[in-house]
Amino acid sequence: MQELRYNPVTGEWVIISAATNERPTQPADSCPVCPRSQEFYGDYDLAAFDNRFPALSSDLSSVEEIDSNLLKRGPSRGKCEVLMYTSSHGLSVPNMGLIQLEKLVEMWCDRYKEISKLDFIKSIFIFENRGREVGASLQHAHGQLYSFPFVPSRLEKKAKTLSDYYSCNRSCLICDLLTDNSFTKNTVFENDSFMAVVPFFAKFPYEIHLYPFRHVSRIIDLTAVEKRDLAHAIRKTAKLYDSIYEEEFPYMMTLYNPPENCGFVYDDSYHFHIEFYPPKRAKDKLKWMASVETGTWAFVNPTEPEAMADTMKRLEVQQ
Ligand SMILES: [Zn+2]
Ligand SMILES: [Zn+2]
Repeated sequence: MQELRYNPVTGEWVIISAATNERPTQPADSCPVCPRSQEFYGDYDLAAFDNRFPALSSDLSSVEEIDSNLLKRGPSRGKCEVLMYTSSHGLSVPNMGLIQLEKLVEMWCDRYKEISKLDFIKSIFIFENRGREVGASLQHAHGQLYSFPFVPSRLEKKAKTLSDYYSCNRSCLICDLLTDNSFTKNTVFENDSFMAVVPFFAKFPYEIHLYPFRHVSRIIDLTAVEKRDLAHAIRKTAKLYDSIYEEEFPYMMTLYNPPENCGFVYDDSYHFHIEFYPPKRAKDKLKWMASVETGTWAFVNPTEPEAMADTMKRLEVQQ
């Protein structure tokens, strides 16, 4: 069963996708996404392909009528893509070449441009789940893209907060944060175009956000130099993470772009950024999304963000 269901109590859509529960895990002896394997007949460098078990699909399937004044269902129309970062099975972001990561940023932009032309798509969410701890079922370096026929509630909240701030102040909230000393003192590193910071309001112990210094609303608005600097900042963040316990460090990397095709222009108010959420709080301890986090959306961070920023500033990584 594939459909959207509306929760009238919270005002949120839920994606019902019974097929995703049947997703296979990677067999121990072979990788289904290496060149010349189950998914690919030939070689590739980078690749984007439709997820075989999509939560949302571009086929317009009809949904059953529902006999209720309160409950709604809708077609789960959207696109879920798998984005292969490289054909080399042993590589991942921290040890990939900078040129390959620049190509990845270009691929994100190409897919974003293409999918945002579909007027039923309201939100495009690009992300990477790295490591079994955050549910990655394939070991081969890859990310994903979900494009939704609605704006998921946290993304809607973020876009509204930023546009409300712009309406009141005629400036971008994130541009203003980037000149606020209390915010920037947690900067872990920066390059010419991007700043990596443990946010003052971090929810996770090792959370890092990447912000472009220049006001850029969507990833596709970055210049070629900024895309190169973004590739550099992503790799450096991943290298820092791997150096914390000198082992592969799991993370969720999430890219934030404004809603699309909603009849509202976010060019001045929305500032593109990336948030990294690593689930670890110690070498052998995970921070769970438990009752408080899941039930209330209020997070309990067991560390002080300033101390975590200082710890990560001191880590030495090879460029
Ligand atoms: Zn592989
Ligand atoms: Zn801005």
